[in-house]
Amino acid sequence: MGFKSKLPHTGTTIFTVMSALAKEVGAINLSQGYPDFDCDEALKSLVGKYMAKGMNQYAPMRGVNELLDATGSKIESSYGLSLDAREEITVTSGAAEGIFSAITTIVHPGDEVLVIDPAYDLYKPAIEINGGKLVVYSLRAPDYEIDWLQVGKLVTPRTKAIVINTPHNPIGRIMSGEDMSALQDLVVSNGLYLVSDEVYEHLVFDGFRHESALRYQRLFERSFVAFSFGKTFHATGWRIGYCVAPAALTAEFRKVHQFNVFSVNTPTQYALAEYLSDPQHYLSLPDFFQEKRDFLQEALADSRFTPLKSRGTYFQLYDYSQISDKNDVEFSREMTTRYGVAAIPPSVFYSKPDENERIIRLCFGKTKETLARAAERLCKI
Ligand code: GLN
Repeated sequence: MGFKSKLPHTGTTIFTVMSALAKEVGAINLSQGYPDFDCDEALKSLVGKYMAKGMNQYAPMRGVNELLDATGSKIESSYGLSLDAREEITVTSGAAEGIFSAITTIVHPGDEVLVIDPAYDLYKPAIEINGGKLVVYSLRAPDYEIDWLQVGKLVTPRTKAIVINTPHNPIGRIMSGEDMSALQDLVVSNGLYLVSDEVYEHLVFDGFRHESALRYQRLFERSFVAFSFGKTFHATGWRIGYCVAPAALTAEFRKVHQFNVFSVNTPTQYALAEYLSDPQHYLSLPDFFQEKRDFLQEALADSRFTPLKSRGTYFQLYDYSQISDKNDVEFSREMTTRYGVAAIPPSVFYSKPDENERIIRLCFGKTKETLARAAERLCKI
């Protein structure tokens, strides 16, 4: 057609592809990360309440004050950071819009941006479409440790920003306090900006705490931190999250956000503001999901899949080298079409995948019945 694509190497996201394939062949879907159980009835009725009350016109561009204030209080009690909520938080259309708008706010043509592989599939196209140049540091199985000295060596005078994700999708790694201190030094000493994707902030297991960028004052001064109400409250289809950044950065962020989506749907914002008044709704999540992680792992104990460590998110990587020598893309398709369980191939998160890795990602954010049925099938392989 002669059309000059801005993203010539980008296809449809693997999450859409695998969920569609799972649906087509009737497989149990442990691929795309979303719960197969509904969100809280109480939350749904709050949305209904505010719709019935007539909260159905445009929300303010930055979000409704009630939700900004409630989110500010949540941040203060979770991370000890006291914000000017109405000037430093923006309600976004899912964390994805927050991350895309943050990258668009920061990146000028020719700027270099550090990305850690495996990287969630949104980051690289968002950088590229803004004319940025990717500089990739790769983590490798099974430990996926970050050598910050090596990351530092990738910084050049053109480096503008670094993107991180903690807890990390797909590897389930969480940043430690030492990681964050090293990151803070790197960002501050080189005058970089940070985009921190923290959508799984409440899915941290084994007694660890979430090391949010919001806990590190000097780091936060140069950060855009993206969060998700959809992930936290089992309502991924509502597309609502928020981006936190210091006031001056937020002002620039909002210039992009306003002409990207203008504002986010109104009744959901009021509903979430009221729902946030009970912290138990999110404080219960680590136990809730850790139980699911352990349940799937135990159910697969007699299978030929070997689990890698998952300290956060609702994903766990499993090594299948005892089963097949096929690469992960082929094996994920085969699992879906032949064995009836859909998975995600982690190689799609890499610019340069390791050809020898035999690992898939499973989502355990599902009901126990779903996990038990999937495990029964996987144990037969
Ligand atoms: N974050 C989810 C995952 O990794 C998918 C979200 C999406 O499909 N946009 O599976």
